[in-house]
Amino acid sequence: MTSFHTHRARVHDTSLPPYRRHSALRTCLTCFAPYGLRATYHHLTVSARMPRHLETDPDALVRAVEELHEARELWRARAEEYVRQRRAQKRAGRRETSVAPWWDQYRYRWDSPDSAWLHDPFLHPPLTLPAYVRRQNALLDGAELPGCPACGEEGPALPVPTGHGHAGLCRSCARVLTPCPCGRRHSFEPTIRVGWSRTWRREHMSGTGEPDPHWPGVRGTARIERLAAYHHVHGPY
Ligand SMILES: [Zn+2]
Ligand SMILES: [Zn+2]
Repeated sequence: MTSFHTHRARVHDTSLPPYRRHSALRTCLTCFAPYGLRATYHHLTVSARMPRHLETDPDALVRAVEELHEARELWRARAEEYVRQRRAQKRAGRRETSVAPWWDQYRYRWDSPDSAWLHDPFLHPPLTLPAYVRRQNALLDGAELPGCPACGEEGPALPVPTGHGHAGLCRSCARVLTPCPCGRRHSFEPTIRVGWSRTWRREHMSGTGEPDPHWPGVRGTARIERLAAYHHVHGPY
């Protein structure tokens, strides 16, 4: 049994107090979190309608872990196929493809095009996790999908200043669509930060599991427009 499956079973275990089941969900997220741990958690709080006080609806934890599990199964199937394809290519003596699969890229993405999700958990694609994984798998298979590669948004990119130019960010998920003309990598980070502990305690949710309209005050496109660009000297590569 992997850590994911052990902890998924704990999330389902109604004999445990909700805080223990919540903590098991966190362990599942350390195993698999397609938007990064914090943004994936934020996504699940909204999609599974996790109330501030878990006691009022502990089933929300089950909805959250099952969405995560479904996405993880889609990823696992594609990752296993990827390994088989690579072996077959090697046997055929073909050169290995240099494109890293999306699940490898996201481990190193502090300054990758979608790093805003790591810096601000309130920014990430509006897709369900299985829909996001299906989209990424399709792109890996060579599908030509319109719009933002991460989320499919087809509206015009938002220009965000970098101090010496502009980068164009997806108006829905803040992924960089057109890089800054200087050619260096920039990360886009919120000027108003929300502490992780407040997000973890679901201060952005109401008692009934609806998003609190007043916290954090700025969301969506307005939040993306307020991101600030940073240039990191040390990249991961
Ligand atoms: Zn997007
Ligand atoms: Zn630049």
